[in-house]
Amino acid sequence: MSTDTPTVKLLINGEFVESTTTEWRDIVNPATQEVLARVPFATAQEIDAAVDAAREAFKTWRKTPIGARSRIFLKYQQLIRENMKELAAILTAEQGKTLADAEGDVFRGLEVVEHAAGIGNLQLGELANNVAGGVDTYTLLQPLGVCAGITPFNFPAMIPLWMFPMAIATGNTFVLKPSEQDPMVTMRLCELALEAGIPPGVLNVVHGGADAVNAICDHRDIKAVSFVGSTRVGTHVYRRASEAGKRVQCMMGAKNHAIVLPDAHKEQTLNAIAGAAFGAAGQRCMALSVVILVGEAQQWIADLADKGRGLKVSAGTEPGADLGPLVSCAALDRVSGLIARGEQEGATLELDGRNAQVAGYEKGNFVGPTLFSGVTPQMDIYKEEIFGPVLCVMAADTLDEAIAMINENPNGNGTAIFTRSGAAARHFQEEIDVGQVGINVPIPVPVPMFSFTGSRGSKLGDLGPYGKQVVQFYTQTKTVTARWFDENEVGGVVNTTINLK
Ligand code: NAD
Repeated sequence: MSTDTPTVKLLINGEFVESTTTEWRDIVNPATQEVLARVPFATAQEIDAAVDAAREAFKTWRKTPIGARSRIFLKYQQLIRENMKELAAILTAEQGKTLADAEGDVFRGLEVVEHAAGIGNLQLGELANNVAGGVDTYTLLQPLGVCAGITPFNFPAMIPLWMFPMAIATGNTFVLKPSEQDPMVTMRLCELALEAGIPPGVLNVVHGGADAVNAICDHRDIKAVSFVGSTRVGTHVYRRASEAGKRVQCMMGAKNHAIVLPDAHKEQTLNAIAGAAFGAAGQRCMALSVVILVGEAQQWIADLADKGRGLKVSAGTEPGADLGPLVSCAALDRVSGLIARGEQEGATLELDGRNAQVAGYEKGNFVGPTLFSGVTPQMDIYKEEIFGPVLCVMAADTLDEAIAMINENPNGNGTAIFTRSGAAARHFQEEIDVGQVGINVPIPVPVPMFSFTGSRGSKLGDLGPYGKQVVQFYTQTKTVTARWFDENEVGGVVNTTINLK
C-alpha cells in the first residue's frame, strides 16, 4: 500500500482529525480490490476525547430552541439532495451496491433527516388540566445526554442517518462508530451535517472494531446506545451496555420469509421476489432469503430460477447492473462456502451463482443469483443468515402450515405474503409473529413517520429506530404536577395526607 493512500479522519469537537493510532485497516473497492483509503482504529484516549466533547456540547445543545434545531435539519436535507450523486458514488466504490441502490440507501436516510426537521411536532409533551382542584400535570420529553450509534456495513448512509439526526434533533449529543468496512460515505454525510450547522461537539465520530464498540458500551458518560448489525454482535452489545446502565436498542440479523399462494399474480410476484432476494447482492437485513411456495405455486421454481438468471451481475458503476459484488473477499468465501454446504446437505441447487465472471472486473467478489429448492429447517443454509444472493425455496400444503414454519423461525425482522385474497392476507397479518409485514410488498420497511419494527430474535430493546418510537428512546419523560396559588388566597392548614381528589 502506498503511503499517499488517503486516511479517514476522526470527528472530535467539530474538527476532522488524524488518528494517532498504529492500527489501520484498508478500505477496499469490492469490484476491483483497489485500496481506496485507510481507516484508523481509534485509541482509548481518542474515544474519551470524543465523549468529552459530546458531554461538554450537551450543556448548551440541550437548551437550543426547537426551531434552531429544526432549521439545521432542513438545511441538511437540502445539502444531502444537492450532493446525492457524489454520495452514491462514494458508497458504491466502497460497498459495491449499484449506483441506483446507493442512491436508495442515501434516500432512505434522507427521509429520516426530513422527519427530524419536524421535531417540533414530535417532541411534544402531554398536559392534563385540573387533575385536582387547581392542579395540572404535564410531561417534558428531555434529552438524555451523550448517545452513541454503532452501524453495519450494508447501509452505510441510511443507518447512520437513522441514528444521529433524531438523537441530535431531540437535544442529545452523539458519538458515532461507523462500520470499519465502508466509513467513507458516512464521513461525507458528517461533513455535510457540520456544513448544515451542527455545532462542534454535538456530532462526533470514532472508528474501529470490537475495542471501540466495547469502549462505547462501558463508557460511563454515554447514556444510550443504538446498534444495528449481526445478532452475534448485537446480543453482546445489548448485554454489555445494559449492564453498564445504558438504554440500548439493537436491530440485528434476519431470515425473512415470503409466502406465495397459488392465486398470487405470478409475474409480479416472481419479479418482486427476485428483486428482494438477489438485489443488493442479498446484503440487506430485509432481503427475502426464504420463499415458501404453497400448493400449486410449487410449480413456479423453474420460473423463479429464470428470473434470477436474467439479472445482470456487474460492478455497481456499470450501466444496467442489477447486483454488484459482495462487500469483501471474506464475505465471498463465506457465501460460497454456505452454497457448498447446501449441496452437501441435500438441497437441490437450481441456480448456482458461484464463480460469476464479470468482464473487466475479474478480481471482484461476485456471486450471482443462487436458488436452492427442497430446503428443510434442519439445514444450515436455512438456519444461518447467508447475507448473499441466495434464495431458499421450501414447500407447504396450506397457508397455516407456511405461517407455522415462519413462526417457528427465531428471527422476526420482515415477512411478506403474495396473494389476491384479502381474507388470506388478513389471516396472515393477524397470525404471523414477525415485526414487519408486507402484503404483496416484498421488503416492507416502513417510512419514517412509523418506526422500524423488527421483532423477536431480530431485535433487543423495546423501542425501534427512527419514527415516533425513537423520540421516546432518546428522551426521558419527566412528569410535572403543578399548583399555583392566587396572590390573595388565604393560607390553608398543614396537610399531612397526600390526596389529589
Ligand atoms: P457486524 O455485527 O459484523 O458489525 C456491526 C458493527 O459491530 C460494526 O460497526 C462492527 O465494527 C462492530 N463489531 C464487529 N464485530 C464486533 C465484535 N466482536 N464486538 C463488538 N463490535 C463488533 O454486522 P455487519 O456484518 O457489518 O452487518 C450485517 C449484519 O447487520 C447482518 O446480520 C444484518 O442482518 C444486520 N443488519 C440488521 C439491520 C436491522 O435493522 N435489523 C439492518 C442492517 C443490517
